[in-house]
Amino acid sequence: MTRCTGAGRFAPSPSADLHIGNLRTAVLAWLFARSTGRRFLLRVEDLDDRTLPEVGERQVADLAAIGITWDEPPQYQSSHPERYNTVVEQLLEADMAYECFCSRKEILAAPRAPHAPEGAYPGTCRDLTATERADRRAASGRPPALRLRSQRTEFTVTDLLHGEYSGVVDDFVLRRFDGVPAYNLAVVLDDGASGVDQVVRGDDLLPSAPRQAYLASLLDLPRPVYAHVPLVRGADGKRLAKRDGPVSLGQIGVPVALAEIAGSLGYTAVTLDGMLAEFDPARLPRQPWIYRPATLPG
Ligand code: GLU
Repeated sequence: MTRCTGAGRFAPSPSADLHIGNLRTAVLAWLFARSTGRRFLLRVEDLDDRTLPEVGERQVADLAAIGITWDEPPQYQSSHPERYNTVVEQLLEADMAYECFCSRKEILAAPRAPHAPEGAYPGTCRDLTATERADRRAASGRPPALRLRSQRTEFTVTDLLHGEYSGVVDDFVLRRFDGVPAYNLAVVLDDGASGVDQVVRGDDLLPSAPRQAYLASLLDLPRPVYAHVPLVRGADGKRLAKRDGPVSLGQIGVPVALAEIAGSLGYTAVTLDGMLAEFDPARLPRQPWIYRPATLPG
């Protein structure tokens, strides 16, 4: 195996227990990293106040229980807010970020460019004068969010499963109005600080990759290679969720979870080292895995 100085990672948000789909994504992230000689890191993304410490602890324990190994103690985003705030302040100072007073409703109602997807920021607050900003601040009754003053409308990333992928870059949020660092900023800074150069995660996050890679390039951080893997869905085709039945490790147990994950990937081995021996990125299923908990014993 070629040794490599980079790292891969898994970065769950502790808002709910990991379900079998999340576990499968973690296994894939681990397989991609280990098969390329990378270090593997675990990062608990607990900046949002909808996250719970005990859920984070259970996520770490569940990942260990299925055999995922990591090379450094798990990191918790909430433990180093200064990392995010320092960069936001620097971007503001350099006029590469600006205050935004818009509510979500206003953003959705504003006219947008023909190619911009719903929810892309239409630029309402980008060029406010100092007086206009002061007026909006007085009228809005809450602190502003901070947005990136983007110089691009599109950016291209390389994805091991999706090829060259181009997606929208808008003036995305760096710090929310409640002071919480935004997901896109935190991911980029943490991956950069940890030497992560391979990002494997669910393909629901593929549209975020161009924004993140653009921000990484602005901050002179290396741009990782991506692999956005198909999500796991319930029998109804929707994202797997609690309503689908027993889906967490606590409910289904380690042997069944590993057998299901291995089966879904076409492996005969049901240990992580065994799966590593069989791992071939070119043969990964490209379709969502439909998981039917009802077929499980018990
Ligand atoms: N914390 C994010 C999530 O659980 C994933 C972040 C990432 O992998 O970039 O959806």
